[in-house]
Amino acid sequence: MSIATSKGGKSQRSGLILAKQLQASGISQTKVLAAIANCPRHLFVPEILAHKAYDNTALPIGQGQTISQPYIVARMTELITGAGNDANNACDKVLEIGTGSGYQTAILAQIFDKVYSIERIKSLQWQAKRRLRNLDLHNVSMKHGDGWKGWANKGPFKAIIVTAAPSEIPPQLLEQLDEGGKMIIPVGDHQQTLRLITRKTNNFEQQTIEAVRFVPLVPGELI
Ligand code: SAH
Repeated sequence: MSIATSKGGKSQRSGLILAKQLQASGISQTKVLAAIANCPRHLFVPEILAHKAYDNTALPIGQGQTISQPYIVARMTELITGAGNDANNACDKVLEIGTGSGYQTAILAQIFDKVYSIERIKSLQWQAKRRLRNLDLHNVSMKHGDGWKGWANKGPFKAIIVTAAPSEIPPQLLEQLDEGGKMIIPVGDHQQTLRLITRKTNNFEQQTIEAVRFVPLVPGELI
């Protein structure tokens, strides 16, 4: 698991400045801050917006979709990272719903052993795949599909991260969460809140984290 940053001294500095800003906003896990500092976010946004790539804001990526705000990416990652690294050395697998630009995927790939990511818009998935390959992040499998269904034959997952908002938590995602696993998901239509769900045998503990704004998790037809 490495990330090729040698080409961009400038982007490395910008990534570091962004990580320091996130630390000042309350992100504390070193692994997460290091992954943000290492990741050339300008390669995940349209070229015309590259000058805004290291601002702490969401940006449009085409097809009516957005690359998430770095603070939210870091916060969501931090909340599920505790789900990994157990003592038994099992492979820590994370499932991401909504690949989008692939930026969140690139952060996860630096922290988890294996990342599975699902996107319903083919052209976004294709671009994200190319970006991750160019960054030498090879521990990622991507699928063009409907995230509501999850990816049952690759589960159960130590962590699940959903980066688009459903009106209710998809039951199939709950089923694919491993014992002790954690899922972070924005829920709601107009008013959305970020929920952290922890699986304890067949109980699901739920915690509300903060108000957020995501694009909707769209059901049905792939494009
Ligand atoms: N993590 C991404 C966020 C992209 S926005 C990033 O930082 O770039 C959310 C993404 O979820 C969009 O690309 C959208 O196409 C995708 N999406 C929406 N509904 C989906 C569904 N049912 N299945 C899979 N992907 C979906």
